[in-house]
Amino acid sequence: MENNDCLFCKIIKGDIPSQKVYENEFCYAFRDINPQAPVHILVVPKDHIESSWKIDFSNSYYVAKIFEAIPAIAKREGLENGYRVVTNCGDDACQTVKHLHFHILGGEKLSEKMS
Ligand code: 5GP
Ligand code: ZN
Repeated sequence: MENNDCLFCKIIKGDIPSQKVYENEFCYAFRDINPQAPVHILVVPKDHIESSWKIDFSNSYYVAKIFEAIPAIAKREGLENGYRVVTNCGDDACQTVKHLHFHILGGEKLSEKMS
């Protein structure tokens, strides 16, 4: 189910433009508008799941499908040397868009510090 007020639902629908890098029945991947690494891609489920708090038995297949897509995306982006996958959940993690998303970061040696 989409949420009419959600930025990423609008991006999935094409109402807001994005630089798509991958899409299948379950997920959509596009370049982050404010990249924090040479490669910074967001992968989102094509269902409005607010955050990882809301993952349960009824929708966890989206997460599985996203994690099947991630290696294909990483390979296409030339991230053979490695990459980081991050999801921010809630205010303490500075989640700004309330639609579950996984950041793929790479293209350089990333910081050892994750927080
Ligand atoms: P969060 O902070 O919620 O984990 O990540 C949200 C991400 O969405 C941020 O990295 C931010 O740069 C990105 N973002 C916000 N608005 C847009 C947009 O309109 N287009 C794209 N491509 N990325 C966006
Ligand atoms: Zn949404």
